[in-house]
Amino acid sequence: MKQEDILLIKKELSSPKRIVIVAHYNPDGDAIGASLALMLFLQQKGHTANILIPNSYPDFLAWMPFSQMIISATENLQLCKEKIQTADVIFCLDFNTFNRVGILQPPLEESKATKVLIDHHIDPDSSFDIIYSITGTSSTSELMYDFIVNIMEGKEYMNKQIAECLYVGIITDTGSLSYSCNNVSTYRVLASLFDYGIDGEDIHRRVYDNYSESRVRLLGYSLKERLVVMDEFATSFIYLSKEDLEKFKYKQGDIEGIVNYGLSINNIRFTALFSERDDRIRISFRSKGDFNVNDFARKHFNGGGHKNASGGNSYTAMDETIAYFKVLLNQYKTALITPWV
Ligand code: 5GP
Ligand code: MN
Repeated sequence: MKQEDILLIKKELSSPKRIVIVAHYNPDGDAIGASLALMLFLQQKGHTANILIPNSYPDFLAWMPFSQMIISATENLQLCKEKIQTADVIFCLDFNTFNRVGILQPPLEESKATKVLIDHHIDPDSSFDIIYSITGTSSTSELMYDFIVNIMEGKEYMNKQIAECLYVGIITDTGSLSYSCNNVSTYRVLASLFDYGIDGEDIHRRVYDNYSESRVRLLGYSLKERLVVMDEFATSFIYLSKEDLEKFKYKQGDIEGIVNYGLSINNIRFTALFSERDDRIRISFRSKGDFNVNDFARKHFNGGGHKNASGGNSYTAMDETIAYFKVLLNQYKTALITPWV
């Protein structure tokens, strides 16, 4: 963070303020973990802090400390609007543009509050007043540790609950330390979190051994019936129709992680998961190595994210979306199959 911004945020937070923390649509472990950690820190400092999310978080995060305090716009839009209108400071966590906050976008853009971005996605929008964005970092939660302990000099406010929240953010955004985790700083932060008495194994069980039977069977079905492997493009994809999702009693968060299986096949470097929603096809992209799925999602599917993990949307039917995807694979064939150096 720039020195002038550090001074600005410290000054802003030097007296009790009304603070809103906003995370992105379909909030994940990192968005929720970083938000709860920041809320718990700010409340100890005497601020009023509320977390607002555009739509609810997945069930496997419901055990997280104080998660019941989070306000979802799908349940209480009016309250969210009031909180935004009366806020002095708004922290925007784990997203880089206002179009990632769905129904909360108009009130946020209208707000005159000081807007602080803490995030690790490529190319943050310049419309935030203060930007703390490091693209190469594992997670927003890793940055949040730095924000609380170093930038705000708040080590004395760190505790087990904040450490648990940050731990969830880091392990979920790195696929349990399997990607975006080649910086030693990530491990230094994790090691520090253990100083506060967290139980990493127990957190892992609460996050990952917590699926419904239908979710596990949806995974089996996806791999057996809906996985397409195109060796000629070093690409695979999975597609799930609305009927498929209904058959397996789909709940938000159920398809999280399924996309990664497409990439676990040897020689596959690019994978996508298409899932049909009421108004669109939601797409997740993942890659290994140099194939940049942030660029791919931005250019062709109105989305974005990171170099090796991104998402986007298509507003045509599933078969047309997949046909278009295959046309694109032909265009990108050289980049996809050129041997790695
Ligand atoms: P996921 O596939 O897990 O939903 O998303 C992968 C990554 O891409 C996440 O970091 C997420 O924030 C980002 N992402 C997903 N969808 C979009 C989108 O529509 N626009 C942008 N800019 N980023 C996205
Ligand atoms: Mn993140």
